[in-house]
Amino acid sequence: MKNLNKNYINGEWIEWRGDTIDVNEAATGDVIAKVPASGRAVMEQAIEAAHNAFEGWSESTLGQRIKVIEQLHAGLKERASEIAETVSREVGMPIKLATGIQAGLPATVTGSYLKMLPDFPFTEQVGNSEVQKTPVGVVGCITPWNYPLHQVILKVVPALAAGCTIVLKPSEIAPMSAYILADILDGTDLPKGVFNMVCGLGQEVGDSLIKHPDVRMVSFTGSTRTGSLIAHAAADDFKRFALEMGGKSASIILPDADLKAAVKGTVNNCLLNSGQTCTALTRMLVPADQHDEACELAAEAVAKMTPGNPLEETTRLGPLASAQQRDKVIDYIKLGIDEGATLVTGGPEAPEGLDAGYFVKATVFGNVKPDSRIAQEEIFGPVLCIIPYRDEQDAIRIANSTDFGLSGAVWSGDQDKAKAVAGKMRTGQVFVNGGAFNPLAPFGGFGHSGIGREFGKWGLEEFLEVRSLQL
Ligand code: NAD
Repeated sequence: MKNLNKNYINGEWIEWRGDTIDVNEAATGDVIAKVPASGRAVMEQAIEAAHNAFEGWSESTLGQRIKVIEQLHAGLKERASEIAETVSREVGMPIKLATGIQAGLPATVTGSYLKMLPDFPFTEQVGNSEVQKTPVGVVGCITPWNYPLHQVILKVVPALAAGCTIVLKPSEIAPMSAYILADILDGTDLPKGVFNMVCGLGQEVGDSLIKHPDVRMVSFTGSTRTGSLIAHAAADDFKRFALEMGGKSASIILPDADLKAAVKGTVNNCLLNSGQTCTALTRMLVPADQHDEACELAAEAVAKMTPGNPLEETTRLGPLASAQQRDKVIDYIKLGIDEGATLVTGGPEAPEGLDAGYFVKATVFGNVKPDSRIAQEEIFGPVLCIIPYRDEQDAIRIANSTDFGLSGAVWSGDQDKAKAVAGKMRTGQVFVNGGAFNPLAPFGGFGHSGIGREFGKWGLEEFLEVRSLQL
């Protein structure tokens, strides 16, 4: 892939001659690329370019913005197989899933904005007032490694649509798909300086981005720890911010649910991307008298997920994205055993025959105490906690007993009952009886999971300030 030793600033690829960061192949640990560990001066150049481009882009017509987003959409579709393979190698998601999700979802989301934009009310009449929605300004976008292009697209597309200019700081662990995006945008009619990308470490260039006075908003996806740093930095000069952070989502299986289907649905969701999914259903809440059967069903579902080379079409479970993440997950599995949970399947050893790369055994714990650390902290690996509950009220209490609130699920033979329970969950989305993911519905968290929303009109409104003209 070209330009990996460069940053994209003011419409040009600028060579970086300093330190670099290794990008490793998740399945082997081999170094597959080296990207810039850029310094603060480079980030300042990028912010200056975005600042200078703002006036022009903020005054562009909706037609101009739609045209660029159409060009981007076409590029994402054209390069889908390259995107899928790149992300599969750097993150470890099996290629079949990576094709649908890591490459497919960015194109779907971009397409959803193209459908929505022509009718989006950029002005509204309220009595004698005209309410105008106007771009926030220069936006700093900071993204993580688990769905590396998808998370970038959820920021870049609505920010461009709003008329904002952008400096993107992609994840240094999985940066390569962002280079494909920058290459696609370079081939569109986007004016110079509207989109800029600087690669580097969070505590260096990320820090410069969140503290720069010309950046008027930070849109962040990543850990709760970094999100908190961003909120503090933003407070100093009243920047806006949107934070999408971690989760510890509960799947409540009610006594009248189809237990087999509910367990299978929960396991599949929990193990997606080897558990490196912010919305993963990592706590499965089951009636106490169905606990043992649920454990057996979960073990059966996990047994079908043979780990292997993510580039093979038949692989269902890949490695984790980095050695650091693998070690963290193994420590949590050991902690679960120490905390007295029942190890139903899996464990801390590497899966047989997979000593290279960052593989971890899919692990299920039973009889997990709701207040134990494995039930409270985000593990971000293929680890499911099964928690028995007494009655419906107890289930809702346990579901709401973490600091997070990103996602959840309810399973019941009675749809109205399931909806009623879903309505009591303090979380940004709930999948009712396996309802389908909807890219037009708002996505985001309660509590420590986030502030603000992405997707659909809610995702666009994050990048707009409102002004009232009293007429
Ligand atoms: P992270 O917070 O370590 O890093 C995310 C980004 O922030 C990276 O680009 C990193 O370089 C940057 N960063 C780190 N320190 C910084 C600093 N001091 N100043 C500015 N930028 C800094 O998170 P991660 O480990 O890459 O990602 C995993 C986390 O992301 C998990 O907690 C997961 O739940 C969360 N996540 C949330 C969502 C969501 O939509 N809610 C989606 C995916 C992932």
